[in-house]
Parts: sequence; structure tokens; C-alpha cells
Amino acid sequence: MNKYDVIIVGAGCSGIFAAYELINKSNKKVLMIEKGNSIKKRVCPKRKTNICVNCNPCNITTGFSGAGAFSDGKISLSPEVGGNLPEYIGYDKTQELIDYIDSIYLSFGADKKIYGLDNNDKIKELKSKAIINNLKLIACPVRHLGTEESYKIYTKIEEYLENKGVDLKFNTQVDDILIEDNNIKGVLVGNEKIYADNVILSVGREGSEWLRNICNKNNIISEPSTVDIGVRVEVRNEVMEDINKYLYEGKFLYNSKTFDDKVRTFCQNPSGEVSIERYDDLITVNGHSYKNSKTENTNVALLVSKHFTQPFKDSIGYAKSIAKLANMLGDGKIIVQRYEDFKRGRRTTHDRLYRGNIVPTLKDAEPGDLALVLPYRIIKDIEEMIEALNGVAPGFSSSETLLYGVECKLYNNKVKVNNNFETDVKGLFAIGDGAGITRGIAQANSNGVYVANYIISK
Ligand SMILES: Cc1cc2nc3c(=O)[nH]c(=O)nc-3n(C[C@H](O)[C@H](O)[C@H](O)COP(=O)(O)OP(=O)(O)OC[C@H]3O[C@@H](n4cnc5c(N)ncnc54)[C@H](O)[C@@H]3O)c2cc1C
Repeated sequence: MNKYDVIIVGAGCSGIFAAYELINKSNKKVLMIEKGNSIKKRVCPKRKTNICVNCNPCNITTGFSGAGAFSDGKISLSPEVGGNLPEYIGYDKTQELIDYIDSIYLSFGADKKIYGLDNNDKIKELKSKAIINNLKLIACPVRHLGTEESYKIYTKIEEYLENKGVDLKFNTQVDDILIEDNNIKGVLVGNEKIYADNVILSVGREGSEWLRNICNKNNIISEPSTVDIGVRVEVRNEVMEDINKYLYEGKFLYNSKTFDDKVRTFCQNPSGEVSIERYDDLITVNGHSYKNSKTENTNVALLVSKHFTQPFKDSIGYAKSIAKLANMLGDGKIIVQRYEDFKRGRRTTHDRLYRGNIVPTLKDAEPGDLALVLPYRIIKDIEEMIEALNGVAPGFSSSETLLYGVECKLYNNKVKVNNNFETDVKGLFAIGDGAGITRGIAQANSNGVYVANYIISK
């Protein structure tokens, strides 16, 4: 019989670190099943041709190291950032795990530089500007791997896991899980049953809808989690110079005056590029930056967090509807709009787009009107946030500032797990972004390490 000690569903940032830990600290038989490609075969044609050819599944979001492979590779080294792990295991334990995963990146060749530890006077100055503008600046040390270096590091990790004896099955989607008497028994791939004593579901945002269906079908409790909707803003590097230089990433929080909504900056990419993410038939916007190939622009997401209350439960459906509308109006492309046009309620045209100093880095974005897509409440929140950020980074609210839409984070309904990330089904674990627990690489990695150690100790 085909039987493992642990099956990991999804070889993303949380899953691969669970495998790393299991294989290094135990003699457990481990299988990873991943619906995308081995990292060596992960190629996004758009990065070379500027044209998305709709790979199915998308090579940006699926395959070994999941959404991390082509990410900016910002490793946020504080528990304050990147998810809710401290709620489950405490702040100190989270910090300990983040330090540990950081040491693993270093052992695989990560850049030694950490942003946000030096230049305290400059950081203090940025903090006081934030206070004056009703923003909260969370200073978080960041190690920047860079897109191409992340790719190399994850390639080495894949080879390492394979050499150490982890079975890796690519281009294979897990269809279902096998449960008997409330104990996990394994997974179903097509008609094939693969058995295991423990199953870790680490399916990421890409698998969030799949996970919700699995939960509904098997009476695993999950509750709607917050959904983040907004835009990606692109400005010239000059505007963000101090933040880029001293922090690399500025994590700003704002409570909007009109609606009292939480708005935050997310995933800042100095000298970076705006990119797209594909989720089945939808495209949304994102960003990244290379370690060695630099642009003149910095991009950062502005996201409005929405939590829905009864009777509405489908927060993913809500965000997807907005993304779908944007895709429809952009004729299958990301919409880009100048901030002046956004405020004036008029469409950006090709002519207006190239009036300013910025050359858009997402080459095939369609100039359009985001007001036809986003609800008024979100538009207002974004406008207020841009004006507030202008007080910290003068020029942020310039007419030429570009807004790309839409960016949304499709987190799963939060799966009910205990403090060891075990669901009500014995031996079934849910971790990472897809389970609504993490939102970034470092916490996703740490989540994987934690669960692996718990399984080893059982
Ligand atoms: C473009 C981009 C840039 C980013 N930049 C950063 C950054 O700089 N810093 C940062 O901290 N975070 C960044 N992030 C977020 C970060 O990548 C995620 O938080 C992290 O990857 C989450 O890890 P995960 O293991 O939960 O999910 P993922 O890494 O998404 O992995 C989930 C994996 O599960 C697979 N899967 C899903 N369903 C199934 C199934 N049924 N069967 C088999 N396999 C399945 C998917 O194919 C995927 O490979 C970025 C994300 C993107 C998309």
C-alpha cells in the first residue's frame, strides 16, 4: 500500500519548510504533492514578452515554493508583519521561528544585508512624519532576497529536499482528503488513494477556494476572514527615496476618516516592477523587484481590509466579483489610471498616461477608470491614504502617480485549528496563507516549521 507518515498538499512557502524540518529532524516518510511545476520548469513567459499567455496553472502562483518563487523575496523579520501566527503560538515563539527560518535562507546563500536596523535617526524622522499624518509606521527589519535570487535559493531547496529523500509529485492536484472516524487517512488524486497518518494542507491563496470546499464538504469549521481590496501604486523612486533607503519597505497603517476603515501599505518594491497574478480565470495586480536589475519606479499596494458580518459569508466571492469587473472593463488586462484622473473621475487615456515622469512598468496595462470598478467606500479610503502618505513621501499624491487595479488578497475563510494548527479532524493540519493564518513568506515558512516539529513530537 502507498503509505506515508506525512503528506504535504502544496509545495509553497509553508509546505516546503515543513518538509525541510521533517526530513532534517526525523526519519518520517514525506510526500509533497503540488499542482504546479518543479521550480526548474517554472517560467512566466510574460516576464520576457510582456504578454500573459494564460498558463494553466499560473507559473507565478503555483509550483515549487508557491507564490514565493517569483516574489520580491522580502523576508520580514518581525512577528508584527505577515500574518497572525503570534495569535496561535505567541510573539516570542514566532520571533524564534522567524530567526530560525532566516538562518536557513542564509545557509542557502541569501544576502546578509538587513534593512531597517541602522539609521535610527532617519527612521525616527519617518515615524514622526507618519504620526503628523495620522499614519502608524511599523518598523520591521527586512532581508531582501530579490526575485532572481529567491528563485536560485528555492531551486537549491528543492534539490536539497529531493536529495534528502522527500518524494515530490508535481503537476498533480489533490482532489479530496480521506477521513475515517474523524481521523485523517490520506488524500485522493483522481482515482488514486494515497495514505498517510498526517496531512498538512498548505495550499496558499491559490488553493483558498479549494480549501473552503474541502472544509464545507467535511464539516471542518471555517469562518469568513478579512478580505483585502485595493490598488497598486507606482511612483518614481525619488518620491520614496528615504523609505526605500532606510527601511526598504514602509509598513504604514491608516484608519480612514470618512469610513473608519483600515487601510495599509503592502509589499513595497523599490526600483521594482508591477506584475500580475492569475487565479483561474482572473488576473489581479502585484509587484516585485530584482536584486540586480533595477527600474526607476517604486510600487506598493494600498489595501482596504473588509470584514463581513452576518448574513454575508463569501468574502472571497466579493473580492473576485470586483476583480472580474476590472478584468471585464480592461478587456482581460490590468487597468492603470493616473491619480489626477482617479480623483477627477475621468478615464486615463494613452496620451495622458505618458504626460508625467513615470514610465509604467506593467507594459500591457490598459489605461482606464477604476471608479467604474471599485465601490465608492474603497475609492475614498484609497484617496485619503494617498493624501496621508504624501506627508511622509512628498510627491506620492502627484497627478502623475499611477494606480493599477485591482489588487486583492484572497485569503481563505479562516480554518478552525488548535494552537498546533490541527483541525477538528485528527492528523489533519491547515497552515499558511490558504488557511487564513499567514500573509507573507517568513510567517508561512515559520508555520511550516512549527507544524513539522509538532508532528515529530507526537
Ligand atoms: C507576486 C508576489 C509577490 C510576493 N512578494 C512577497 C514578499 O516580497 N514578501 C512576503 O513576505 N510575501 C510575498 N508574497 C506573499 C507570499 O508569497 C505568500 O505569503 C506565501 O507564498 C504563502 O505561502 P503558502 O505556503 O501559504 O502558499 P503558497 O506559497 O501560495 O503555496 C501554495 C501552493 O499550493 C499549491 N496548491 C494549491 N492547491 C493545491 C491542490 N489542491 N493540490 C496540490 N497543490 C495545490 C499551489 O500550486 C501553490 O504552489 C508575494 C506573493 C506574490 C504572488
